[in-house]
Amino acid sequence: MPWHRQCSDSSCVNQHAPVFLMAGGGNNQMRDQVLNCLHRCLLLVAGLALALSFAVPAGSEELAKNLFGNRPLPAATAPQSWGFYSKGCFSGGVAIATDGPTWQAMRLSRNRRWGHPAMIDLVERLSRDAVADGWPGLLLGDISQPRGGPMLTGHASHQIGLDADIWFTPMPDRRLSPQQREKMSATSLVDEKSHRVIDRRWTKAHERLLKRAASYPEVERLLVNPGIKQKLCDTVKGDRSWLRKVRPFWGHDYHFHIRIGCQPGSPGCKAQAETAAGDGCDKSLAWWFTEEPWRPNQNPDAPKARDVMTMANLPRECRAVLNAPSPASEAAVTVGPGGGAMRVAAAARAGAVASPAGADVATAPAEPALPVSAYAETPEVGIPLPRPRP
Ligand SMILES: [Zn+2]
Repeated sequence: MPWHRQCSDSSCVNQHAPVFLMAGGGNNQMRDQVLNCLHRCLLLVAGLALALSFAVPAGSEELAKNLFGNRPLPAATAPQSWGFYSKGCFSGGVAIATDGPTWQAMRLSRNRRWGHPAMIDLVERLSRDAVADGWPGLLLGDISQPRGGPMLTGHASHQIGLDADIWFTPMPDRRLSPQQREKMSATSLVDEKSHRVIDRRWTKAHERLLKRAASYPEVERLLVNPGIKQKLCDTVKGDRSWLRKVRPFWGHDYHFHIRIGCQPGSPGCKAQAETAAGDGCDKSLAWWFTEEPWRPNQNPDAPKARDVMTMANLPRECRAVLNAPSPASEAAVTVGPGGGAMRVAAAARAGAVASPAGADVATAPAEPALPVSAYAETPEVGIPLPRPRP
């Protein structure tokens, strides 16, 4: 829309001015003022039109992130993932409770405690197994939105209910308040400049946690910072076969990312390519310690996929997912204390397709005692900066 540039000089204003004003004669100064005002009003209208053309993309379809980002509850139909990790949605989602005996969910305001029942079941199982291994309990980061889909902020993936972020910070031995869960920052395990693990922050318990997470057959990948992968390559003794699942990626220095494979009953789920054979402690890892992966983005202002993705870009079925009815309540589809969806998750583990709508609402049991934390409390050092998260 270049006309306002063509019209930036007064001759242009005169050229476009309505005839009645030109014919008015008399007070030239007043005429100029009126024209000036008219010109500015036209510019404003043009600007508004331009802004609207960005808000509603081609085909006047709303952005998928706005539609999925505003659904408070899942689609109460059979659990199914549609599309790919970074371009899809899912139905039959369940939530993990904000609190369990072996976990605490963080950043509750984001409402991203949702996942395919198999994913939620795995997170719950990992929390129990990790505590048995000596880890004090899990701090849970983002899983998915209730119906998946692109998010308003953050991750490119996490769209089909099969991704979950777990903090490397051990769970403190007290219940965090909702405010602390919003503001508490996680501690990075990796030096920003060298991209190597900060040794005083790394423990064998971190290694055991990752090994446990990699041990489940449904887990296809764990994403960690290259520095963490390098640390594992340098120090893991004995069985190293699980290192194949541990993949280096940007970010992931204060949390790791669990990705499970497409689940039974989801023919519309697009699987990821298999990871290369071997432990990955090779040239592909060495590349991360060159300058190339860390060069500044050539085009930092280019729009991200979520900023242009409409429903037309997602699998057809996502429209039905978006419009499906919600379950009776959040509690009915929540796994863990206070939720009634334990049976749903158990059914998912057994490979059955269950509908969360049929789950009973259980009464909240008394909170079990927390295992004693061997770790110091996490210091609060301010709000973490946003980082790229897949
Ligand atoms: Zn993630």
